[in-house]
Amino acid sequence: MAHVWLIAGHGRGIYLEGKGVQQSYALGSHTTVFRAEVFAILMVASREEVIRSPEPRVYICSDSQAALRAVSAPRTRSALVQECGDALEELARHKEGRCLGPEPYLGITRQQVTAALNDWVYSTLKEHWRLSRGCRQARDFVTGPDPARSIWILDRSRETLNQLVGILTGHCKLRRHLSLLGIEEDPTCPRCGEDDETSYHFVGQCEAFRRLRFAIFGSGTLSREELNSLG
Ligand SMILES: [Zn+2]
Repeated sequence: MAHVWLIAGHGRGIYLEGKGVQQSYALGSHTTVFRAEVFAILMVASREEVIRSPEPRVYICSDSQAALRAVSAPRTRSALVQECGDALEELARHKEGRCLGPEPYLGITRQQVTAALNDWVYSTLKEHWRLSRGCRQARDFVTGPDPARSIWILDRSRETLNQLVGILTGHCKLRRHLSLLGIEEDPTCPRCGEDDETSYHFVGQCEAFRRLRFAIFGSGTLSREELNSLG
């Protein structure tokens, strides 16, 4: 069995992950990526739990080619690199293994794994939405998960978000919903009296908003298909 540690250094600190441990260290605003990566290797190589672990091998995966080259070089003028090289030598007395990197460590990059996971989550959500029943009013507006729209919606104010979710789901102060809750007796639209006051009626059909709708969408009414395709 091998003991694998992933490290990520940046201008302000480092991140370590391995053997159930996830740890960040702040290094101040003047640290270079190179120093952060070397410090991260040092932190892993000198950890007591790494040296004493039952696994016979240890792999430390880093993104920085410069850091990996420096810590394995025979000579250095940097005290930090020297300390790191010494720690790796000491670790080598107890364990097999080595430093790996930069990506891909395993033949695929972290970005590829992230992209594949995102695609999987998106297609799974889309299929779930397609197969699930219910949410009848929301289906007038939402065809499925849409990352770009989600980002736009989540960027709105809390008040706008509240109104938007209310309209999209039909769970708002329109009469159809209030009558289902027993708050209103009559579900009919109070403005035109022509149909139940649902989200679809309010946004796409009500005669009272024909001119406003025309000014915004260029059409006096909007069908379910047109609502579905609103960008
Ligand atoms: Zn109406």
